[in-house]
Amino acid sequence: MPLAYNFSAGPAAIPEPVLLEIQRDLLNYKGSGTSLMEISHRSLDFVAIAERAEAALRKLLRIGEEYFVLFLQGGASLQFAMVPLNLSQAGDTVEYVNTGAWSTKAIAEAERIRTVHVVASSSTDVPEFDLWSRTDDAQYLHFTSNETISGVQFDRYPTSVGVPLVADMTSDFLTRPVNIGNFGLVYAGAQKNAGVAGVTMVIVRKDLCRIAGKDESHYLNYRIHGQSGSMFNTPNTFAWYVAGLVFEWLINEGGVDEMERRCQEKSRLLYDVIDQSDLYDTAVESSFRSKVNIVFDIANESLADEFTKRAAAANIINIRGHRSVGGFRASLYNGVSIEAVHALVEHMKSFEKEFA
Ligand code: PMP
Repeated sequence: MPLAYNFSAGPAAIPEPVLLEIQRDLLNYKGSGTSLMEISHRSLDFVAIAERAEAALRKLLRIGEEYFVLFLQGGASLQFAMVPLNLSQAGDTVEYVNTGAWSTKAIAEAERIRTVHVVASSSTDVPEFDLWSRTDDAQYLHFTSNETISGVQFDRYPTSVGVPLVADMTSDFLTRPVNIGNFGLVYAGAQKNAGVAGVTMVIVRKDLCRIAGKDESHYLNYRIHGQSGSMFNTPNTFAWYVAGLVFEWLINEGGVDEMERRCQEKSRLLYDVIDQSDLYDTAVESSFRSKVNIVFDIANESLADEFTKRAAAANIINIRGHRSVGGFRASLYNGVSIEAVHALVEHMKSFEKEFA
């Protein structure tokens, strides 16, 4: 069977050259006689892998020395708690923008820890920055750059918000340039654009990382992880290694500028089909349509199963929407080729011709 056109929202498609390299390294890492999964995280081989991965990520996003680049476990979901725990203290207020399901989860977790002030909410667009209702005394402002479930994406980033800016970039990390210098902290799980599940990149300004208080957990403290090179305990060596391979692949392919160009090209192909169709539709306001999660509905819900079945026959998989919303979602992360998108476009067009 040939490799499928995989539009999974995550864990998601990994670039084929990266998969081939993993396959080579899996049994006998660079002729060392062991699998890379069998070696200590303290070994010279793994320390070199870890350092290369960090250097490649720093190069891709031009991250300065004033930031820690951490490779943590616990998913982006753990960051929903670590951000308020580290960037604010008991009694503080923190600000959040709510643009969908993942913002809502981040807010719900932060509310367990601090007082949360929601500056703006919408589920189909990004409320205009000037209209956000700000407070005077917040410790940081958090937003979700791309809502993976509903497909709402910030078309540009806020700047000069007066407090450290924090972003969950899990689903559009490394798909477009970002000036890290404008942020206090950026985090992203790897399983969409940077390899396999199990490692989360946290880029955080060192001066924001305070020492853990007497009654606070060491493990949940950024400074501890920063000072130990993300090896306070055994890291997910495999996920870290794969992330490094993806970063190097991205550099060879032309970096984040090129990824942005590809995302624009790929997403335009699908939105053009949706906009010209009577069968497909999307609820997202056009300037905030995600370039990585193309979310659409089919006018006649009874056709959904047939649409999916025929897609599978054309080797197109993982296009159903998130279980909470239904419909369809094609995720166009960096590992998804333009050929895959052409195949989906063909399928959508021929299906509409037959059934509309
Ligand atoms: N934030 C966003 C934007 C996501 O898409 C996801 C996962 N789909 C998460 C957070 C949670 O990530 P994890 O499952 O790695 O905790």
